[in-house]
Amino acid sequence: MTEPGKPRDTAPSDLDAPPKLKLAILTCMDARINLWDLFHLGLGDAHVIRNAGAIATPDVIRSLAASQRLLETEEIVVIQHTDCGIHRIAPTEFAKQVGEETGTVPDWTVPATADPYTTLALTLELLRAAPELKHRDKISGWVLDVESGELLAEGS
Ligand SMILES: [Zn+2]
Repeated sequence: MTEPGKPRDTAPSDLDAPPKLKLAILTCMDARINLWDLFHLGLGDAHVIRNAGAIATPDVIRSLAASQRLLETEEIVVIQHTDCGIHRIAPTEFAKQVGEETGTVPDWTVPATADPYTTLALTLELLRAAPELKHRDKISGWVLDVESGELLAEGS
């Protein structure tokens, strides 16, 4: 584990809140995805929104709306990936299992499939149709192959 509070070359106080690249990235929480290396990002460059599966949930759309409307971003990049943990069980089955264990079935209906390209297409469709987003003309999607490290464009 890295040591918290370690000094950096650039302090957050040197930066403005709006990301320098006017970019927001939505990706999975998967521990193998290193966005900073993939996109050569530095502190202050982009918003990064992560959840299980890089899914366009209502809170992701809320975050992206805030990113665009309050913090000046204009572009969205979505990164799905191969071997995603969320695909190990159907979302409805996962909610059912948690419900059996806890006595409360969570409302975890998500627009996702076991195929990262199909999930990417669903996610992009939702974002491109979301009226909450101010800029919908620069939304792209990619699938990261976690074995090769290769980024594959949507539809490839
Ligand atoms: Zn994942």
